[in-house]
Amino acid sequence: KFISFEGIDGAGKSTHIAFVADLLRARGKSVVSSREPGGTAVGEKLRDMLLHEKMHLETEALLMFASRREHMAQVIEPALARGDWVISDRFTDASFAYQGGGRGLNRAKMEALEQWVHPHLQPALTLLFDVPLDVARARLDATRTLDKFEQEKVDFFAACRTEYLRRAAQFPERIVVVDSTKSIEETRATLTGILEKLL
Ligand code: C5P
Repeated sequence: KFISFEGIDGAGKSTHIAFVADLLRARGKSVVSSREPGGTAVGEKLRDMLLHEKMHLETEALLMFASRREHMAQVIEPALARGDWVISDRFTDASFAYQGGGRGLNRAKMEALEQWVHPHLQPALTLLFDVPLDVARARLDATRTLDKFEQEKVDFFAACRTEYLRRAAQFPERIVVVDSTKSIEETRATLTGILEKLL
């Protein structure tokens, strides 16, 4: 099965990815853990460009989907064909949230790219880690230096978050919103409950 992890920067998703991987492995599942943009040799080069070079918004969106196409071909599809579980730090909801909601790329264009790149594949489950903006900012400032994207304005992240929540309302059967203001222990208990249903 394919699980994606989403949330604005500072929502705490990376903290929980290792926990979910360990939980699935403890249940005897073979787990491939990966990320976007990135996850392959080509994808990591694209990630480096995406995170550090200034470029046209549509170029950015196309490179995100290029990274995704390679990720699907090299990692996701072979793993699913073997019967492994795939957990990906971000997938297409991130493109809708960041390039769409945050930067304002026309939603119809995003949907066209999604239709082109993965007309059939969708995660079985998407865990959307959600926190108010002030909590996310506080976490980021405390833990690390900000990259090109993270330095942009708080209203950018607010727009990303709004789009994430809109997606969650649009696809309630796939996307589960996890309240990430809770303690790590509480969130782990919530995640365990959600994953039990999938196992
Ligand atoms: O998930 P992670 O924090 O590693 O993502 C790296 C950066 O890429 C983030 O700062 C995020 O804002 C940005 N990003 C983006 N559009 C995407 C995926 C990630 O702007 N579709």
